[in-house]
Amino acid sequence: MPIKIILPEDENFHPTSVNLDKNGGIYIESFENNLNIYGAYLDVNSRPAFIIETQYSRKITESGFAAIYFGFAMIVLSSLIFLSFQFFLLRQSILAPIATLTNFTKSISSNHDFKKRIPIQRSDEIGTLIEGMNYMIGTIEKQTELLMEMNAKLQVTSTTDGLTGIPNRRMFDEGFAKYWSLQLREKKHLGLIIGDIDHFKLYNDAYGHQKGDECLTTIALTIKEKVTRPSDLIARYGGEEFVILLPNTDLKGTEFVAETIRKAVENLEIHHIKSGVSNVVTISLGIGSLIPSSSMSPKEFFDKVDKALYQSKKNGRNQVGIVQV
Ligand code: GH3
Ligand code: MG
Ligand code: MG
Repeated sequence: MPIKIILPEDENFHPTSVNLDKNGGIYIESFENNLNIYGAYLDVNSRPAFIIETQYSRKITESGFAAIYFGFAMIVLSSLIFLSFQFFLLRQSILAPIATLTNFTKSISSNHDFKKRIPIQRSDEIGTLIEGMNYMIGTIEKQTELLMEMNAKLQVTSTTDGLTGIPNRRMFDEGFAKYWSLQLREKKHLGLIIGDIDHFKLYNDAYGHQKGDECLTTIALTIKEKVTRPSDLIARYGGEEFVILLPNTDLKGTEFVAETIRKAVENLEIHHIKSGVSNVVTISLGIGSLIPSSSMSPKEFFDKVDKALYQSKKNGRNQVGIVQV
């Protein structure tokens, strides 16, 4: 950076051409490779006493700009690195566990597998949150198991007769509707037996209600024993009445089962001094069998078999009444 002092006697001393006012000042001349800078110093008369000329290489300016650009680029780059690092930390500490949590809750709500636990263990706030969620899932798991257990029990109690332990009327109604439509489609027989203990009111009167209950249970279990096919359905229809559904059993087969039941009850030899029919407890039965069709409803069929039972009562009890349908 050469400095040149131009005195008034120099031929280059042209203060006006460098446009310096009387108070002095700075004038810059711009050339391709350098900048000329002039500064005038005034004498006591406020006239330029001498001029200092200095030249700056334009390269210095370019270097300055390059340094600024470099500095700026470095700031941008370091900001990017800093932001990336921040994002990486955010991802590791918050976004990744939240993504795992989201996937976990989605899967648990679609497959209801409450045995699973969120597979993250941490000692920070997210760890505490996950611990709480795992505890909640554990509680849901226990409650669900309890609910399923209670449902299963309820299912059994709602379809089982409390006294005898055999299926109840509700189960029969469901089974009857199911077998009716099944046999209708398959065009196969459906046998029905309705049994009613003879003079059971008198039995209760003679031996007491508790003995009556015992008698009912014994007879229910005896009938159950004699009805052997897995698809057969025996139920307590109410009071001292029992119903038996025999899929794929014609009238002859149904009569055979009914007669077996009648004999088995008689052979129990439960004393009944007030019966009038026999000196032991007996049962009367009504039976029917048909291939279901749309010309008869299940209720009409049931009523016909019930009439056959009534007929057997009328004919002297302890016998099987048959209806032809
Ligand atoms: P029938 O030969 O004409 O059938 O005469 P029945 O006395 O058996 O018939 P009825 O319908 O007059 O009486 C049914 C009796 O069955 C009434 C009741 O004392 C008895 N019974 C009904 N359900 C129960 C029960 O759960 N336990 C006991 N111990 N007795 C019952
Ligand atoms: Mg009855
Ligand atoms: Mg009766």
